[in-house]
Amino acid sequence: QLSKRLETVVSYIPKGSRIADIGSDHAYLPCFAVRKGIAETAIAGEVVKGPYLSAEKQVKDACLHDKIEVRLGNGLEVVAPGEVDCITIAGMGGALIASILEEGKDKLASVKRLILQPNVSAKSIRVWLLQNGWELTAEEILEEDGKVYEILTADKGEPERPYSRDERQKELLLGPFLMQERNDAFSKKWTQESGQWKNILANMEKAEQTDALNERKAELMHKIQMVEEALSK
Ligand code: SAM
Repeated sequence: QLSKRLETVVSYIPKGSRIADIGSDHAYLPCFAVRKGIAETAIAGEVVKGPYLSAEKQVKDACLHDKIEVRLGNGLEVVAPGEVDCITIAGMGGALIASILEEGKDKLASVKRLILQPNVSAKSIRVWLLQNGWELTAEEILEEDGKVYEILTADKGEPERPYSRDERQKELLLGPFLMQERNDAFSKKWTQESGQWKNILANMEKAEQTDALNERKAELMHKIQMVEEALSK
C-alpha cells in the first residue's frame, strides 16, 4: 500500500513512461508505478548507501529487476541523456529539488514531464520552472497523517502561462492552481505558516531595530499580507 502522497505523484506519470525517481529511498514509487503498468521502466536513484541498498532489496523482492534499475549517485548524474521521459522527485525540500534539476539540466532534453513533491519551499521550484522553460500544468495539495504535502507537475512548454501579471509574487508563493482551488489542506498550511511568521515578527519587535531587521520585517509582513488576501477571498 503506497501513501496517498506518493500515489498522487504516480497519478501524474503518463502511461508507458520511462521514469527516473530521484531520492527513491525504498523505491516504493517506481515499484508501484511499474507494477501497475503505468511506467514501462524505471531508474531509482539514491545518493546514500543505506537507502540505495533498501531500494535494491525492494526491487529484488518484488522481482522487478528486469524493469527497474537502482543506481547510486547524486541527483540526475544516475541518468544518461535520452534515457527517461519523466522524472519524479519527492520528499525533499524545494530548494534541494531545484538544485538537483539545475545541476542535471543536460539530462532534461528528453524529459517531457517533471513531477515534484517538495516538503517545504515549493516556491523555489516554481521559480526554477519559470526560469527554465517548464510550464507548471497541475498542482495538488493534500493532508496525510497530519502533514500537508504539495505536488507540482510541469511539462516543457510556456512557463508564463499559469501566472497572471499582477499576482505573480503571490502565485509563486502559494501556487496559481492551489490558490484557485483553496481546499482545506491549503487553508490549514497557510494559516499555520502565517501564524508562525506573526510569532517571528512579534519577536523581532522586541529586538534592537536595525536596517537589516527592518528589511526582514517588511518581507515577512508582505508575505503575511499575501497569505491573508488569498485566504480571505
Ligand atoms: N522519495 C521518497 C519519498 O518521497 O518517500 C523518499 C524521500 S526521503 C525523505 C529523501 C531521500 O532522498 C533520501 O533517501 C535521501 O538519501 C535522498 N537524497 C537526498 N539528496 C539526494 C540527491 N542529491 N540525490 C539523490 N538522492 C538524494
